[in-house]
Amino acid sequence: MDRLDYALALHGGAGSEPLFLTRAEKQQYRACLDDTLKRGKTVLAQGGNSLDAVETVIRALEDNPKFNAGHGSVLNYDGDHVLDACIMDGKNRACGAVAAVTTVRHPIHLARLVMTETEHVLLVGKGADQFAREMQVELVEQDFFRTEKRLRGWRQALNESQAAENENRQHLGTVGCVARDRDGNLAAGTSTGGRTLQRFGRVGDSPIVGAGTFADNNTCAVSCTGVGERFIQHVVAYDISALMEYRQLTVGQAVSHLFKYKLPAHSGGIIAMDTCGSIAMQFNTHGMYRAATDSAGRVEIDIQ
Ligand code: ASP
Repeated sequence: MDRLDYALALHGGAGSEPLFLTRAEKQQYRACLDDTLKRGKTVLAQGGNSLDAVETVIRALEDNPKFNAGHGSVLNYDGDHVLDACIMDGKNRACGAVAAVTTVRHPIHLARLVMTETEHVLLVGKGADQFAREMQVELVEQDFFRTEKRLRGWRQALNESQAAENENRQHLGTVGCVARDRDGNLAAGTSTGGRTLQRFGRVGDSPIVGAGTFADNNTCAVSCTGVGERFIQHVVAYDISALMEYRQLTVGQAVSHLFKYKLPAHSGGIIAMDTCGSIAMQFNTHGMYRAATDSAGRVEIDIQ
């Protein structure tokens, strides 16, 4: 395939349940995805870099209560919101991540600051919140993250004996973005509120480089969503890159390989982009909120 000038893909989690959504709800989701896609595209069309496009998209999704990241995040077992995010630069494999932050409006921005302002890759918990204060990023109270819908979902999950199953059905969330800019640089980012009722300091795949997020200009940029434990076990994001590098699979073939041979049914979804800007978006759940665009005029928005 010819190289595209620029390209961008995003997801809003592999927990979409098209059968349970009304026509109006589907339209609302499509409108949100469309709006966010345009924001990312504008950055790239104006010559902005892929990291800026990824951060712009994820910030918008973090502010959108429909998605499980930032405002609108799910609640853990104790009724708290603990947020994770990761960003990676394909140019030099620079990366930054935060896990279990509780006070930061835009965890993706804090992850980027970990990448640019520290010699570390991953900051967690109190230390990450302290770093946020020192960097003077926008801080919020826990109430900011909470929505009526998430509170209801949490109460219901707590009350139901089959909470885990219920959680799989209703609360797979997370947002992510991959992009290629005019200079040919790839970037990837992922942000999440984790999983409803998660306990004991559980952290999923989203902030783990190589599991939920990865970018390398030689191969691809990847953002995953789904049952984090499966994505960590199979080192999914890096495995896609490795299949491309060592077995010369295309990005679409590499993503398919993961779903065919590694990931169990109903475990989640993946968006990935190769160095030409070619995009793969696949999932093995009922649906995944997703959208893609590029400099050749592609616009794809789907939820099932
Ligand atoms: N992967 C996220 C986690 O395990 C959740 C999700 O994508 O729905 O924390």
